[in-house]
Amino acid sequence: MSVTSLPHKGNLRDSGSAPVPFFSQAAGFRRRWPEIEARLHEVADSGKFSHGAQVARLERRLAEYTGAAHVVGVNSGTDALILLLRACELGDGAGVLVPAFTFVATATSVVHAGGRPQFTDIDPATYQMCPEAAARAITTRTRAIMPVHLFDRMADVAAFTALAARHGLTLLEDSAEAIGMRRQGKHAGLHGAGGVLSFFPSKTLGALGDAGAVLTDDAGIAAKVAALRHHGRPGATLGDFPAIKTGSELAGVNSKMDDVQAAVLIAKLSALEEDITRRAELAAAYTERLSGIPGVLRVPGPVTDGGGDRDVCYVYVAEVDDRDGLASTLAAAGIGTEVYYPVPLHLQPCFADLGHRPGDFPHAEEACRRTVALPLHPDLTLAEVDRVCAEIRRHYTGTAS
Ligand SMILES: *Cc1c(COP(=O)(O)O)cnc(C)c1O
Repeated sequence: MSVTSLPHKGNLRDSGSAPVPFFSQAAGFRRRWPEIEARLHEVADSGKFSHGAQVARLERRLAEYTGAAHVVGVNSGTDALILLLRACELGDGAGVLVPAFTFVATATSVVHAGGRPQFTDIDPATYQMCPEAAARAITTRTRAIMPVHLFDRMADVAAFTALAARHGLTLLEDSAEAIGMRRQGKHAGLHGAGGVLSFFPSKTLGALGDAGAVLTDDAGIAAKVAALRHHGRPGATLGDFPAIKTGSELAGVNSKMDDVQAAVLIAKLSALEEDITRRAELAAAYTERLSGIPGVLRVPGPVTDGGGDRDVCYVYVAEVDDRDGLASTLAAAGIGTEVYYPVPLHLQPCFADLGHRPGDFPHAEEACRRTVALPLHPDLTLAEVDRVCAEIRRHYTGTAS
């Protein structure tokens, strides 16, 4: 395999009407190809392709990067959530407070761990789970709170920490989108019992396919997750995964991480800080160009960075009038957009048994109707941002400038 065989956009990039895909990983892979290739050869030469030395190395690197005492690599962010929740042993039917506006896995993971999601509304100014709404949603069955750090900032972890302490609840974080985000020097996922990372390709740190990890400072939770990911066999975290000689202590699953994914992630982790800086520059450029366009109702504020607090712009989400009309205009101009998320969780068919109705979580419902995510990845150019913003201006004003 050589770098030239990877798909790329070639010289389309300079043309004023060239497509701007919502997301592309190709350029990032091209730039880092020598290191990725060397590591992939190491995997091939080692003869161990899953749950091997690269996975153990990635776990150590992520522990250094995040400050977590334990990092357990698994095969997706979704599995990380399920295994983390199972390891917390919240009990059958345990209520877990989650926002109504998030990726569906935040809440389906609760179901797979034997619990019951309890939805709460969001703060319409930030789209994050609202601490006051969460406080009102607590019932006698509630055992845990799991805020999500969504899009471009962390949820109010200080408020959720206080709320959990006040009610004797376990605090967990769906930090799948939040690599690089910190509050008071502490990485996302480490403010309560544990959190997760997703390495789905479009995430801030993306693999070649699916991968994820659990972050925790709790040795007991880490040991349980490490066992559950490998058929319930006691296993090492941050270790070299010794040959298993014991039986299964828990009914686990196969959620081991592939060494190919770990090798790619180690190579990309060394450039993560650069990528995060680039994302912040691009987000600031969008906000500057979109502010004041009629029809653009809300754009993200500046990315927090300083004094131990840092946010990362994982997706750039704008709130607009005529969202679907704008998305069609942009699609016709070759510009990709996404809707994160079109249906609030309380109205998803898989949660029909919880008995919710439209209107139960109005801010979440409105966010689903009015938000659109614009292209944002470290290889996007400022010229591409200009083009996206010019098309948006044209949609609302009839003129591009
Ligand atoms: C991506 C994501 C997940 C799931 O991660 P996968 O690796 O895709 O399984 C869970 N929660 C949130 C908020 C996410 O954005």
